[in-house]
Amino acid sequence: MSDLIHVLNDAVANQIAAGEVIQRPASVVKELMENAVDAGATAITVVVKDAGKSLIQVVDNGQGMSPGDARVCFERHATSKISAAEDLFAIQTMGFRGEALASVAAVAEVTLKTRRKGDEVGTQVRVSGSKIQSQEPVSTPEGTNFMVKNLFFNVPARRKFLKSDQTELRHIINEFNHVALTRQEIECNLIHNDTDIFRLRPGNLRQRITGVFGKAANAYLLPLKTETSLVSITGYIGKPEHARKTYGEQFFFVNNRYIRHPYFHKAVMGAYAQILAPDHIPAYFIFFETDPSRIDVNRHPSKTEIKFEEEKAIWQILLSSVKEAIGRNSLSPSLDFDKEGIIDIPVLSREQEVRPPQIETNPDYNPFEEEQVYRREKIRFGEKGFPEKGFPEKGFPEKGFPEKGFPEKGYPGKDYGKADRLEGWEKLFEPAETLAFPGNKYLHIKNKYVLSPVKSGLMVIDQRRARERILYDRMIDAAERHRPVAQQSMFPETIRLNAADYQVCLEMMDQLEKLGFDIRDFGNQSIVIHGIPADMDPGRTEEKLEWMIEQYKNLQDEPVTGEVERIARAASAAAAIGYGKTLTGIEMQELVDQLFACSNPNYTPSGKPIVKILEMEELDKLFKA
Ligand code: ADP
Ligand code: MG
Repeated sequence: MSDLIHVLNDAVANQIAAGEVIQRPASVVKELMENAVDAGATAITVVVKDAGKSLIQVVDNGQGMSPGDARVCFERHATSKISAAEDLFAIQTMGFRGEALASVAAVAEVTLKTRRKGDEVGTQVRVSGSKIQSQEPVSTPEGTNFMVKNLFFNVPARRKFLKSDQTELRHIINEFNHVALTRQEIECNLIHNDTDIFRLRPGNLRQRITGVFGKAANAYLLPLKTETSLVSITGYIGKPEHARKTYGEQFFFVNNRYIRHPYFHKAVMGAYAQILAPDHIPAYFIFFETDPSRIDVNRHPSKTEIKFEEEKAIWQILLSSVKEAIGRNSLSPSLDFDKEGIIDIPVLSREQEVRPPQIETNPDYNPFEEEQVYRREKIRFGEKGFPEKGFPEKGFPEKGFPEKGFPEKGYPGKDYGKADRLEGWEKLFEPAETLAFPGNKYLHIKNKYVLSPVKSGLMVIDQRRARERILYDRMIDAAERHRPVAQQSMFPETIRLNAADYQVCLEMMDQLEKLGFDIRDFGNQSIVIHGIPADMDPGRTEEKLEWMIEQYKNLQDEPVTGEVERIARAASAAAAIGYGKTLTGIEMQELVDQLFACSNPNYTPSGKPIVKILEMEELDKLFKA
């Protein structure tokens, strides 16, 4: 027990007893990897079987333990490290209150083999449900080897609560990545059921990121670097055109610890405003370094939520730092920076007000202009989060507008960001080219809305949402009758996913087949799409798949009726992407007929409105002088 000290803390003891510290296999991976880092390892190998349910093994080449410490390390509050929770972000070590091993030992069968440098022989300790079973000398390499078997064998309720292998493995991958991305100087390996998921050689941060997310990442990483007296911000952000529909490459680290920070996420998104396609999220790997006394560690059990004292100031610094990185790499040729503001980001004292650097943007610039017209359309008429002032006034057709007498508030430029709202109806004044008059029953606007006069006024249908509802009902129907209809693709598409999304995809695969998808595992984090449901429009497959994965992940904790419904919801939302297309009169008629044959034509499966009626009264109001 030479250098282990004991820290008594009742709160911690209670947490251990309640099994709160170890929630799932991924928590074990996290704790054991952190210990290996603290032990000065230069190589860490994680081996898991059945997503950690039968085995989690972490092998390191760090300093090892003496036979005495190997025994006592499983005791509550045994730590050789500094103890106070407040010091969590101050100290260099990752563990801090000696609870992890005690917690693991309480709920699993653990075998520890360890040997210190210079010791001739190592020691092996076996523990089961907190009880030491045996200890004996063993020959083992220098370093430490923890084997955790049959997690929760003695807590059946918790074992039953574990999710599917794919989901648990996804959590393991995430925890692994949090360590791997902050310790690029350490070799990190992850092996699942004898398959290598990661073999990451030591290197710099860029190499580590590409190791984790694939070589393609190299092309989209833009370096980030800002020093202020308050905080230093370094790392990489992704080019806007690389942004994806699925989360998974967004990381904040504070003093080399992974944290979640929804508020700072908004700052990053703000920096990308107007240059991202709707619903796309840029990649970022952002490292904050700051004086630990300026952070409050929230006592969240996962230790990933913290609060900065000067959160607003850091928000501003982050926003300008990201904007600057985007601009400096001349990705946005028309971003025009006020040099003074940007080169010296203000060095702050705590009292000072923060002034963001002045950045002028050209609102007409749009990186998607050339390649993808549909994105431009969607940016202008984006449903969510699109800033009002972002609408290029100039882009609005001069002609065809009543010169005088046009009501001030009716000017379409103002309301374009809120196309969903009925006030947005000024769009009807647009020049005739953009309107279609097929037959005289339906009117089509901007490939987005289908209008039709009805008894009480004017019916407005969101065409993409209508499509989503129709596809959803058909998929459910196909699944229920066990008769999915697939259209086979002449050119199967191979898509490589990141490790976590790949697991999600594997998990969805069986259900997707019932809906009419023909997707096959290609190994090596790749899948091949051979066919899609017959009703689904082909094209933009990768984007659809990403969106489907993202929706599915988000639905995971939602109490929906069943797995098929969950998948169908994700799949129909994804399948409707790109349905902002021009419809002929007949197609509009079909869409409307199909919609009203659905179980619930008024709402999408996720509860968004599809049909609105603009009442006569409201129409009349428009014309009151
Ligand atoms: P903490 O990390 O908070 O100290 P743990 O329960 O995780 O608490 O670990 C208890 C102690 O066991 C550590 O302080 C350390 O002395 C020892 N230990 C754990 N894992 C290792 C390892 N991989 N190599 C060397 N020592 C270790
Ligand atoms: Mg620890």
